[in-house]
Amino acid sequence: MVDLAAVFARLEGAYGPQHWWPAETRFEVIVGALLMAQTSWSKVTEAIANLKRAGVLTPQTLAAMPIPRLRAMIRPAGLYRTKPRRLRGFCQHLVQVADGDLDRFFARDFGALRRELLSLDGVGPETADSILLYAGRFPTFVVDAYTVRFGRRMGWFPYDRYDSIKAFFETRLRPDRDRYGEFHALIVAHGKRTCRPRPLCARCPVNAACAFYAGNEDKRSGRGKIGDQAKRRHRFYIE
Ligand code: SF4
Repeated sequence: MVDLAAVFARLEGAYGPQHWWPAETRFEVIVGALLMAQTSWSKVTEAIANLKRAGVLTPQTLAAMPIPRLRAMIRPAGLYRTKPRRLRGFCQHLVQVADGDLDRFFARDFGALRRELLSLDGVGPETADSILLYAGRFPTFVVDAYTVRFGRRMGWFPYDRYDSIKAFFETRLRPDRDRYGEFHALIVAHGKRTCRPRPLCARCPVNAACAFYAGNEDKRSGRGKIGDQAKRRHRFYIE
Protein backbone atom coordinates (compact mmCIF):
# COMPACT_ATOMS: atom_id res chain seq x y z
CA MET A 1 0.00 0.00 0.00
CA VAL A 2 1.26 3.46 -0.88
CA ASP A 3 1.71 5.56 2.24
CA LEU A 4 1.82 9.11 0.92
CA ALA A 5 1.72 10.59 4.43
CA ALA A 6 4.94 8.77 5.31
CA VAL A 7 6.61 9.90 2.10
CA PHE A 8 5.52 13.48 2.77
CA ALA A 9 6.99 13.30 6.27
CA ARG A 10 10.31 11.93 4.98
CA LEU A 11 10.58 14.60 2.30
CA GLU A 12 9.66 17.34 4.74
CA GLY A 13 12.24 16.04 7.19
CA ALA A 14 14.91 16.06 4.48
CA TYR A 15 14.18 19.37 2.77
CA GLY A 16 12.26 21.40 5.36
CA PRO A 17 9.35 23.79 4.73
CA GLN A 18 9.34 25.10 1.17
CA HIS A 19 7.19 28.26 1.68
CA TRP A 20 5.56 28.06 -1.73
CA TRP A 21 4.51 29.91 -3.78
CA PRO A 22 7.36 32.44 -3.54
CA ALA A 23 5.36 35.60 -4.31
CA GLU A 24 4.12 38.70 -2.50
CA THR A 25 0.59 38.69 -3.92
CA ARG A 26 -1.88 36.30 -5.48
CA PHE A 27 -1.64 38.17 -8.76
CA GLU A 28 2.11 37.69 -8.72
CA VAL A 29 1.51 33.94 -8.30
CA ILE A 30 -0.65 33.99 -11.42
CA VAL A 31 1.89 35.93 -13.47
CA GLY A 32 4.64 33.56 -12.31
CA ALA A 33 2.60 30.49 -13.23
CA LEU A 34 1.84 31.91 -16.68
CA LEU A 35 5.50 32.72 -17.34
CA MET A 36 6.91 29.41 -16.06
CA ALA A 37 6.60 27.41 -19.29
CA GLN A 38 9.95 26.19 -20.62
CA THR A 39 12.13 28.35 -18.45
CA SER A 40 13.69 28.45 -14.99
CA TRP A 41 12.26 30.11 -11.91
CA SER A 42 15.19 32.55 -11.76
CA LYS A 43 14.26 33.85 -15.24
CA VAL A 44 10.64 34.24 -14.17
CA THR A 45 11.63 36.24 -11.08
CA GLU A 46 13.75 38.48 -13.30
CA ALA A 47 10.76 39.18 -15.52
CA ILE A 48 8.48 39.81 -12.53
CA ALA A 49 11.07 42.14 -11.00
CA ASN A 50 10.97 44.20 -14.22
CA LEU A 51 7.18 44.47 -13.97
CA LYS A 52 7.39 45.50 -10.31
CA ARG A 53 10.08 48.09 -10.94
CA ALA A 54 7.94 49.64 -13.64
CA GLY A 55 4.92 49.64 -11.30
CA VAL A 56 2.76 47.72 -13.77
CA LEU A 57 2.07 44.49 -11.90
CA THR A 58 -1.73 44.83 -11.82
CA PRO A 59 -4.34 43.09 -13.98
CA GLN A 60 -5.69 46.37 -15.34
CA THR A 61 -2.29 47.77 -16.33
CA LEU A 62 -1.08 44.58 -17.99
CA ALA A 63 -4.43 44.12 -19.76
CA ALA A 64 -4.01 47.51 -21.45
CA MET A 65 -0.29 47.33 -22.15
CA PRO A 66 1.01 47.36 -25.75
CA ILE A 67 2.64 44.04 -26.58
CA PRO A 68 6.08 45.50 -27.50
CA ARG A 69 6.39 47.15 -24.07
CA LEU A 70 5.24 44.02 -22.26
CA ARG A 71 7.58 41.91 -24.39
CA ALA A 72 10.56 44.06 -23.41
CA MET A 73 9.79 43.67 -19.71
CA ILE A 74 9.20 39.94 -19.61
CA ARG A 75 11.85 39.03 -22.18
CA PRO A 76 14.02 37.20 -19.56
CA ALA A 77 11.26 34.55 -19.27
CA GLY A 78 11.73 33.55 -22.93
CA LEU A 79 9.13 32.60 -25.57
CA TYR A 80 8.89 36.28 -26.37
CA ARG A 81 6.38 35.73 -29.18
CA THR A 82 3.78 33.87 -27.15
CA LYS A 83 4.20 34.78 -23.47
CA PRO A 84 3.39 38.53 -23.74
CA ARG A 85 0.22 37.78 -25.71
CA ARG A 86 -0.84 35.05 -23.29
CA LEU A 87 -0.16 37.14 -20.20
CA ARG A 88 -2.03 40.13 -21.55
CA GLY A 89 -4.86 37.88 -22.74
CA PHE A 90 -5.19 36.36 -19.30
CA CYS A 91 -5.29 39.80 -17.68
CA GLN A 92 -7.89 41.01 -20.16
CA HIS A 93 -10.01 37.99 -19.25
CA LEU A 94 -9.54 38.70 -15.55
CA VAL A 95 -10.66 42.30 -16.04
CA GLN A 96 -13.57 41.27 -18.21
CA VAL A 97 -15.05 38.64 -15.89
CA ALA A 98 -14.14 40.06 -12.47
CA ASP A 99 -12.93 43.63 -13.01
CA GLY A 100 -9.44 42.39 -12.08
CA ASP A 101 -10.65 41.49 -8.57
CA LEU A 102 -9.19 38.11 -7.57
CA ASP A 103 -11.65 37.58 -4.73
CA ARG A 104 -14.46 37.84 -7.25
CA PHE A 105 -12.61 35.79 -9.84
CA PHE A 106 -12.05 32.86 -7.51
CA ALA A 107 -15.43 33.05 -5.73
CA ARG A 108 -16.94 30.64 -8.21
CA ASP A 109 -17.48 26.94 -8.63
CA PHE A 110 -14.13 25.12 -8.78
CA GLY A 111 -14.99 22.87 -11.73
CA ALA A 112 -16.31 25.73 -13.86
CA LEU A 113 -13.33 27.88 -12.98
CA ARG A 114 -10.85 25.15 -13.89
CA ARG A 115 -12.59 24.56 -17.24
CA GLU A 116 -12.54 28.29 -17.87
CA LEU A 117 -8.81 28.53 -17.12
CA LEU A 118 -8.08 25.56 -19.38
CA SER A 119 -9.92 27.28 -22.24
CA LEU A 120 -7.52 30.25 -22.15
CA ASP A 121 -4.57 30.50 -24.51
CA GLY A 122 -1.42 28.96 -23.04
CA VAL A 123 -3.06 27.58 -19.88
CA GLY A 124 -2.56 23.82 -19.54
CA PRO A 125 -3.52 21.65 -16.56
CA GLU A 126 -0.31 22.30 -14.61
CA THR A 127 -0.64 26.08 -14.97
CA ALA A 128 -4.37 25.99 -14.19
CA ASP A 129 -3.88 23.90 -11.06
CA SER A 130 -0.94 26.02 -9.90
CA ILE A 131 -3.12 29.12 -10.19
CA LEU A 132 -6.08 27.44 -8.49
CA LEU A 133 -3.98 26.02 -5.64
CA TYR A 134 -1.51 28.79 -4.87
CA ALA A 135 -3.56 31.86 -5.86
CA GLY A 136 -7.14 30.58 -5.57
CA ARG A 137 -6.46 28.46 -2.48
CA PHE A 138 -8.41 25.49 -3.82
CA PRO A 139 -7.30 21.97 -2.81
CA THR A 140 -6.21 20.73 -6.24
CA PHE A 141 -3.04 18.70 -6.71
CA VAL A 142 -0.44 20.04 -9.15
CA VAL A 143 1.37 17.53 -11.38
CA ASP A 144 4.57 18.39 -13.19
CA ALA A 145 7.48 16.52 -14.79
CA TYR A 146 9.11 16.03 -11.36
CA THR A 147 5.92 14.40 -10.06
CA VAL A 148 5.75 12.04 -13.03
CA ARG A 149 9.37 10.98 -12.70
CA PHE A 150 9.22 10.57 -8.93
CA GLY A 151 5.93 8.66 -8.89
CA ARG A 152 6.94 6.30 -11.66
CA ARG A 153 10.27 5.53 -10.05
CA MET A 154 8.55 4.91 -6.72
CA GLY A 155 6.40 2.37 -8.54
CA TRP A 156 3.20 4.27 -7.78
CA PHE A 157 1.93 4.38 -11.35
CA PRO A 158 3.15 3.27 -14.77
CA TYR A 159 1.43 6.08 -16.70
CA ASP A 160 2.15 9.77 -17.23
CA ARG A 161 -1.33 11.13 -17.94
CA TYR A 162 -1.91 14.34 -16.03
CA ASP A 163 -5.43 13.65 -14.80
CA SER A 164 -4.64 10.06 -13.76
CA ILE A 165 -1.66 11.14 -11.68
CA LYS A 166 -3.62 14.01 -10.14
CA ALA A 167 -6.34 11.50 -9.21
CA PHE A 168 -3.72 9.14 -7.75
CA PHE A 169 -2.74 11.78 -5.19
CA GLU A 170 -6.18 13.22 -4.58
CA THR A 171 -7.76 9.83 -3.85
CA ARG A 172 -5.08 9.11 -1.23
CA LEU A 173 -4.84 12.49 0.47
CA ARG A 174 -7.62 14.41 2.13
CA PRO A 175 -8.34 17.70 0.34
CA ASP A 176 -6.04 20.11 2.16
CA ARG A 177 -4.73 23.06 0.13
CA ASP A 178 -1.76 23.72 2.44
CA ARG A 179 -0.66 20.11 2.37
CA TYR A 180 -1.16 19.84 -1.39
CA GLY A 181 0.89 22.97 -1.90
CA GLU A 182 3.68 21.77 0.35
CA PHE A 183 3.71 18.26 -1.11
CA HIS A 184 4.09 19.59 -4.63
CA ALA A 185 6.88 21.93 -3.54
CA LEU A 186 8.67 19.07 -1.76
CA ILE A 187 8.46 16.86 -4.84
CA VAL A 188 10.02 19.66 -6.88
CA ALA A 189 12.81 20.06 -4.30
CA HIS A 190 13.35 16.30 -4.29
CA GLY A 191 13.42 16.17 -8.08
CA LYS A 192 15.99 18.96 -8.29
CA ARG A 193 18.25 17.79 -5.51
CA THR A 194 18.00 14.00 -5.31
CA CYS A 195 15.61 12.26 -7.70
CA ARG A 196 17.39 13.87 -10.62
CA PRO A 197 17.63 12.50 -14.17
CA ARG A 198 20.51 10.42 -12.78
CA PRO A 199 19.12 9.84 -9.29
CA LEU A 200 21.21 10.02 -6.11
CA CYS A 201 19.43 7.04 -4.57
CA ALA A 202 21.93 6.19 -1.85
CA ARG A 203 21.17 9.44 -0.01
CA CYS A 204 17.46 9.56 -0.87
CA PRO A 205 15.13 9.96 2.15
CA VAL A 206 12.50 7.65 0.63
CA ASN A 207 14.69 4.99 -0.96
CA ALA A 208 13.34 2.31 1.40
CA ALA A 209 9.96 2.63 -0.35
CA CYS A 210 11.22 3.06 -3.92
CA ALA A 211 10.69 0.36 -6.55
CA PHE A 212 13.47 1.70 -8.75
CA TYR A 213 15.97 1.64 -5.90
CA ALA A 214 14.84 -1.82 -4.77
CA GLY A 215 15.47 -3.15 -8.24
CA ASN A 216 18.92 -1.68 -8.47
CA GLU A 217 19.83 -2.71 -4.94
CA ASP A 218 18.91 -6.29 -5.77
CA LYS A 219 21.09 -6.14 -8.82
CA ARG A 220 24.06 -4.71 -6.92
CA SER A 221 23.80 -7.32 -4.20
CA GLY A 222 23.43 -10.19 -6.71
CA ARG A 223 20.00 -11.06 -5.40
CA GLY A 224 18.45 -11.44 -8.82
CA LYS A 225 17.70 -9.62 -12.03
CA ILE A 226 14.99 -7.30 -10.76
CA GLY A 227 17.33 -4.39 -11.38
CA ASP A 228 17.17 -4.89 -15.12
CA GLN A 229 13.41 -5.25 -15.03
CA ALA A 230 13.10 -2.10 -12.95
CA LYS A 231 15.33 -0.25 -15.36
CA ARG A 232 13.16 -1.28 -18.28
CA ARG A 233 10.01 -0.43 -16.37
CA HIS A 234 11.37 2.97 -15.39
CA ARG A 235 12.93 4.10 -18.65
CA PHE A 236 11.73 7.67 -18.34
CA TYR A 237 14.67 9.86 -17.52
CA ILE A 238 13.69 13.50 -17.92
CA GLU A 239 16.79 15.47 -18.79
S1 SF4 B 1 15.48 6.06 -4.38
FE1 SF4 B 1 16.33 7.05 -6.21
S2 SF4 B 1 14.81 6.76 -7.85
FE2 SF4 B 1 13.82 6.33 -5.86
S3 SF4 B 1 12.86 8.27 -5.28
FE3 SF4 B 1 14.87 8.20 -4.32
S4 SF4 B 1 16.26 9.24 -5.74
FE4 SF4 B 1 14.38 8.74 -6.87
